Amino acid sequence: MKPLISSDDLRFDAEHIWHPYTSMRNHYPQLPVVSADGVMLNLADGRELIDGMSSWWSTIHGYNHAHLNAALVQQTANMSHVMFGGLTHKPAIELARRLLRMVPDNLQQVFFADSGSVAVEVAIKMAIQYWHAAGRPGKHRLLTIRNGYHGDTFGAMATCDPVNGMHEMFTDVLPQHLFAPAPECGYESAWDESDIIQLKELLERHHEEIAALIMEPVVQGAGGMRFYSPHYVRRARELCDQYDVLLILDEIATGFGRTGTLFACEQAGIAPDILCLGKALTGGYMTMAATLCSQQVSDVISEQGVFMHGPTFMANPLACAVANASLQILETGEWHEQVQRIELELQAGLSACRELLVVEDVRVMGAIGVVELKQPVDMASIQPQFVEQGVWVRPFGKLVYVMPPYIISSAQLKTLTTAIFEVVSSL
Ligand SMILES: *Cc1c(COP(=O)(O)O)cnc(C)c1O
Repeated sequence: MKPLISSDDLRFDAEHIWHPYTSMRNHYPQLPVVSADGVMLNLADGRELIDGMSSWWSTIHGYNHAHLNAALVQQTANMSHVMFGGLTHKPAIELARRLLRMVPDNLQQVFFADSGSVAVEVAIKMAIQYWHAAGRPGKHRLLTIRNGYHGDTFGAMATCDPVNGMHEMFTDVLPQHLFAPAPECGYESAWDESDIIQLKELLERHHEEIAALIMEPVVQGAGGMRFYSPHYVRRARELCDQYDVLLILDEIATGFGRTGTLFACEQAGIAPDILCLGKALTGGYMTMAATLCSQQVSDVISEQGVFMHGPTFMANPLACAVANASLQILETGEWHEQVQRIELELQAGLSACRELLVVEDVRVMGAIGVVELKQPVDMASIQPQFVEQGVWVRPFGKLVYVMPPYIISSAQLKTLTTAIFEVVSSL
């Protein structure tokens, strides 16, 4: 039975519950969802919305998926949770095996974390602990590129774009890391070495104090939905090797097929020393992330002692079980055709937006479609317009973007892109 949500419930929500990046004053009414199925969100008032967001990149196979549901129910009967210190279990072992089969070969150890931000914290700690163990404790700063987004916790926040990284007011209390300009070379543009000159200069000048370069390969997500040349990622790898700096790739948004390859680093033909995964890991069912590292990184850290991190809910069996089920679906390879089709249909469906005066740029990669506007949108007025059109699209700043579940049908995708055109053209 679907839960009923009363107006009293919604008033309570407005007065007592924080939502992401909202004020407890004048917050926009939150839409009550009572269930979700496939790509549809079912609202309390009976309306249905096509979900263009995959609940922030995560529900790649859609909601209420029989195989994922079954995995969870079955695991509940075995055990929902058990501490991971001193104990282990099959769902975690199976999941680590699966992940290691999917990622570049050099990555050999898996750390299960509770969320994307924590996976980034773990990656940062690994890099710092690595250099500490290697007898070079002076290498403890991070290098990154502008327009990045790596999460909301303190360590992760310090590597987000200092201007649009949603944390300007914390600048004084964050560690001061090094920022190179965001890559300018577009995804398909000819490579221009000058694009990476400033990153190279920072490495040249500061490599004695840099532990790692951290970046999102090929697609920068919440820091601007920018796509850039895989060649940049390749050159960054070479420079890290040249200057003895670890490379951390944050594939929390791009991982598991979203860009058209299983991982975006494949497009550059390189492997990181440390890889962060999250969001789609459990098919969007539960919060879980993972930080994978190379044998070299884990060997050096382990020579010195233990790696200093261990969350209470590490490798939660329910999350592992549903992640295993989600990766099984990916292993069928069907995602590949799904994402290719979505890419073609997003290109066709969004191209008309290019002609609109308010539009700065339209770009598509894999199952990601972005309409960048010249001015920031007014959320209070644009959000209801999308709902009116029967779709769930949640813009931020100048960006109207979608990354639908891979199972979206052509007809549903058409509705989604038409709605975007209609809403954007009315601005
Ligand atoms: C979402 C995201 C994070 C943070 O993940 P949370 O699960 O929200 O903590 C980190 N890095 C990237 C690239 C992301 O897209």
